[in-house]
Amino acid sequence: MNPWLIEAPAVAAAAAAGLTAYGAAYPRAQLFGKTVCRTNSPRKLAITFDDGPNPAITPRILDLLDHHKAKATFFVIGQFVRECPDLVKELVARGHVVGNHTELHPNLLWLNPTKVQVELRLCHDAIAGAIGAPPKWFRPPYGMRNPWIAPAASELGYRTVMWTLIPGDWQEKPAEWLISRMQPIADNARRKLASGSRDAVHGTGDVLCLHDGSHRQLNADRARTQAALEYWLPRWRDLGLEFVTIGEAVRTPES
Ligand SMILES: [Zn+2]
Repeated sequence: MNPWLIEAPAVAAAAAAGLTAYGAAYPRAQLFGKTVCRTNSPRKLAITFDDGPNPAITPRILDLLDHHKAKATFFVIGQFVRECPDLVKELVARGHVVGNHTELHPNLLWLNPTKVQVELRLCHDAIAGAIGAPPKWFRPPYGMRNPWIAPAASELGYRTVMWTLIPGDWQEKPAEWLISRMQPIADNARRKLASGSRDAVHGTGDVLCLHDGSHRQLNADRARTQAALEYWLPRWRDLGLEFVTIGEAVRTPES
């Protein structure tokens, strides 16, 4: 019996709220099941995009990624997948990976186990319908996790993906602000890839969480996300970083 389910509901909700806030503030916390938070090499940077597909910007981001020979991972919202299935198909055709970001982007913290399952299943079916294969990766909206999300995700065969850096590209700030918020990626690469560094062989790399859409509506303006990537992609490349999908991020040479 899951001890969470036998608590008095008010107590359980209060405790879950505190713990889930902890889970969101500390995305690498493993309290609610094992998650993927980093890549397995300091050379590998996994760029991830949430809240699409977004016809207003995703095609431009795809061109930008192609230009820099970058592969990325897109955590998409089921209801938008149903509106733009061809765009999701194109993501895969161009070598990127598509993951589940729920059907309607609710805060899963407040949903009971059955509703969590429905949110995951609807998006799962939307993606499978668009690309002809089930997705393997899941990211919870707002990074919010509770004790029954991990079982719902693993039942569908998912691994849950968090991040090492979430610079806040949804905020109405100038692109320069966002660019400076993404500086830690370059700092980490410089430090870990320095010659003679122990990290260069044994270290891990970053998972960056950006947004090519908004869960509120299709066609959201994400020009600053695009501008920040235009600035950083060539600089990251010069530092020796490779831009990989989340599958490649955790793949070892043998597997
Ligand atoms: Zn989201």
